[in-house]
Amino acid sequence: MPPVFRFAPSPNGYLHLGHALSALLNFDLARQAGGCLLLRIEDIDATRCRPEFERAIYEDLAWLGIAWETPVRRQSEHFAAYRAAVERLVAQGLVYPSFESRAEIGRLVAEKEAGGAWPRDPDGAPLYPGTARSLAPAERDRLTAQGLPFALRLDMAAAVARVGPLRWREAGEGPDGESGDVAARPEAWGDVILARKETPTSYHLSVVIDDALQGVTDVVRGADLFWSTSVHRLLQELLGLPAPAYRHHRLIRDAAGQKLSKSTRATGLRELRAAGATPADIRRLVGLS
Ligand code: GLU
Repeated sequence: MPPVFRFAPSPNGYLHLGHALSALLNFDLARQAGGCLLLRIEDIDATRCRPEFERAIYEDLAWLGIAWETPVRRQSEHFAAYRAAVERLVAQGLVYPSFESRAEIGRLVAEKEAGGAWPRDPDGAPLYPGTARSLAPAERDRLTAQGLPFALRLDMAAAVARVGPLRWREAGEGPDGESGDVAARPEAWGDVILARKETPTSYHLSVVIDDALQGVTDVVRGADLFWSTSVHRLLQELLGLPAPAYRHHRLIRDAAGQKLSKSTRATGLRELRAAGATPADIRRLVGLS
């Protein structure tokens, strides 16, 4: 079977040089391996995603000389598949609702931090304190009946205990040079959110479902997502899905050494194109020949 690669941008801004590196690497690797490249639009966040950004993705990728298979998968059109996966995890007793607002969670974390060091996830955010894990069923029902917003969280300790140690095959490199056969550390993320009342999925869940449904064999993406792979491996195992091979690539940084953001105009593909850059210039700028 020929390998299947994918580029999976979110249409919440215009593409920059970091996206160009990711898309071009996927395209080149797929071509070298005689495989195919899929394009997936990760638009589950209706408040931030916009049709003009999606149109710009097609335009910018085509300008770069990248070709992809159609139809393009748009995550917002597949909420039923994600809902079904959450239901399977609920049925396994691994999911619970939490009702705290962001501010309340902030206060709970501040209390924990006042009592000593409190762990942070690989992105630097404090772990959810797990307060709602022990809510009595009657209390859960009462809060749900009030119509409060909620997040459905994975009971991480229970999930990890269920599947045991996990690993993945890494052809690229992690932030500390991790490579080859990497040990997953999903517990470092705490009780991650799988879905919310208004959005029946999350980044972690939809990526895992889609990579499996689309038969993706090779995930090539930025090193900022390296440790997310721990959660992805765990969800794959819980849901009985195959694990692709992973290749995390270096990030493009700005002059100050910061990761590029969609709002930094100097590195936007549209700005560079308007200033006269060619697709070959973009390849050079991201360090590909
Ligand atoms: N949608 C994610 C992003 O734009 C990438 C997801 C992935 O490659 O797993 O950062």
